[in-house]
Amino acid sequence: MTWEEARDAAGPGSVAILPVGAIEAHGPHLPLETDVIIAQAMARAGAARLATRGLRVLVLPSLAYTSAGFARDFAGTLSLRPETVVAMVVDIAGSLTRHGYAALAIANAHLDPDHLASIETAVNQIRRGLRLRVAFANLATKPWALRLSDEFRSGACHAGQFETSIVLAERPELVRTSAMAALPPNPASLSRAIRDGKMDFEEAGGPRAYFGYPAQATAEEGRATVEVLGAILDEAVTAELA
Ligand SMILES: [Zn+2]
Repeated sequence: MTWEEARDAAGPGSVAILPVGAIEAHGPHLPLETDVIIAQAMARAGAARLATRGLRVLVLPSLAYTSAGFARDFAGTLSLRPETVVAMVVDIAGSLTRHGYAALAIANAHLDPDHLASIETAVNQIRRGLRLRVAFANLATKPWALRLSDEFRSGACHAGQFETSIVLAERPELVRTSAMAALPPNPASLSRAIRDGKMDFEEAGGPRAYFGYPAQATAEEGRATVEVLGAILDEAVTAELA
């Protein structure tokens, strides 16, 4: 968009969707930018649904860098300090408020605990300090997690069947399919490991930075999951604006 197009898109009924991802190790078969690709797909699918409600929706350039402490020791992972993440999200919200947007929606599928805590902190600061509605569906919490696959809910939700399927649907040329097909299942639960105080993928039982069942991924599942993610974003925004 040009600045004049962005000016005309603001005002009552305007929703700016910020895809938030990470640059982080995702097994031997997926690119570092996997969570950015997923967030962009969620944003696109959510925007299509919100537009049918008569809202003026735009998708912002992605926030690709964030906290990724669980992957910090894997090459290619570029992790930010939590306070940096909070400041970036709050500053983006401040600019949106200045320019008259009505709402910010965060499209996110990166589940690192420091990252999720940073986004929650930023959302709380925006609610306290800015005249801007903000919607954030934390997929690691109810009710949203209940809408996602068995593998996701088991906690084996990093670079497994769930995420690999979405990249197969969105950017198939980026999946190393022969590596993917050869990966043995890793049912270790990342969410349980986080509750048990583990601090990185290696400690959590994922020495190659993947969990779950990546060899079972399909583009068909990925397309279906993107629709569910879009519906979740749509519902979170609709509830926030109600
Ligand atoms: Zn991911």
